[in-house]
Amino acid sequence: MSTRNSLVALDDVRKEFDDVVAVEDINLEIRSGEFFSLVGPSGCGKTTTLRMISGFETPTTGTVSLDGSDMTGVSPDHRDTNLVFQHLSLFPHMSVGENVGYGLRKRGLPGEEDDGRSESERRDDRISEYLDLVDLSGFADRDPTELSGGQQQRVALARALVNEPSVLLLDEPLSSLDRKLRKRMQVELRKIHEKTQGAFFYVTHDQEVAMTLSDRLAVMNDGQIEQVGTPEEIYREPASPFVADFIGDTNLLEGRADPDGDGAIVTVGDLSFRTDEPVDGDVTVSIRPEDFALAEDGALAGEIDERYFQGDQTVYVLSPDDDVSDLQIVMQGQEAPVEKGERVTVTVREGAPSVFDQY
Ligand code: ATP
Repeated sequence: MSTRNSLVALDDVRKEFDDVVAVEDINLEIRSGEFFSLVGPSGCGKTTTLRMISGFETPTTGTVSLDGSDMTGVSPDHRDTNLVFQHLSLFPHMSVGENVGYGLRKRGLPGEEDDGRSESERRDDRISEYLDLVDLSGFADRDPTELSGGQQQRVALARALVNEPSVLLLDEPLSSLDRKLRKRMQVELRKIHEKTQGAFFYVTHDQEVAMTLSDRLAVMNDGQIEQVGTPEEIYREPASPFVADFIGDTNLLEGRADPDGDGAIVTVGDLSFRTDEPVDGDVTVSIRPEDFALAEDGALAGEIDERYFQGDQTVYVLSPDDDVSDLQIVMQGQEAPVEKGERVTVTVREGAPSVFDQY
């Protein structure tokens, strides 16, 4: 069940389209003011989840609550949410200011300030305020076609934010922009979020964007939520091999675990280490590339098959002598101490591997 301070709560929400189960009995809560992302591969159910929060889709079973009220069957117009889409959706026949003002006309001006200003003055002031927020002061009279892609996306954001929804829903809003602009807009989006203090729910297949922007994120796979946590929690303590592999780079290896007290001794080829996980038998082990270190007398020996110098770090592919599959290893720093073809031994940073039972 949702907790009291959650702004958006999904309780046992399921969505079926004929014989496709798009979302399978998920539970999620988004808190006031947080930047929350839903990340996962194409087709895993992200957009369907977002559309159920906005009201454009109704769950087959389960409830969607906003600010403690059950909104499951309520239409989008009667929810305190706004949506920004992947594809720009500005009205070409309206000026930038009129586009932003459209959101206000549709739902009315929030607040009942009696400060002597007429309704239209208050509306114009608010449009300027939100154009300011997205760094487009003075653009109110421009035609949207005169703006760059990034500027147009910022107008779309201002239009969605101007009536101060308690949740802004963003469906891959940056994916139509080129890489450089996307990076810049990520920073701006984070700044805009900080200024508005509202909750943002951001859907993306791009794990790097989700990690960079979010206070918390949920990783979705095949209609289910595999893990919810802060970027650090999800990166350091992935709940499943899928999460370990989807978020960041990792080596997924087959191993064996023998119970040892509360934990187990895990063996992967020539490598052996203790884990606090109570695992037993066949296991999958995730070791991040940066958790290996070159060592004189490391347990794992092999040959460097490939070497990719990247400036601030070097990526190596190590082919181990035992029958463990090839390993990706990252060494930080501007020096690449090992050449392709060289023989090395490596160790693994203590406590770094994640171990999962194989069912
Ligand atoms: P992407 O990142 O590619 O947008 P997604 O994670 O947002 O994917 P959804 O669009 O939610 O995934 O789709 C989840 C599943 O539900 C997919 O198998 C999709 O084909 C199916 N689906 C979505 N909408 C409908 C619909 N209206 N009718 C039938 N099937 C649908």
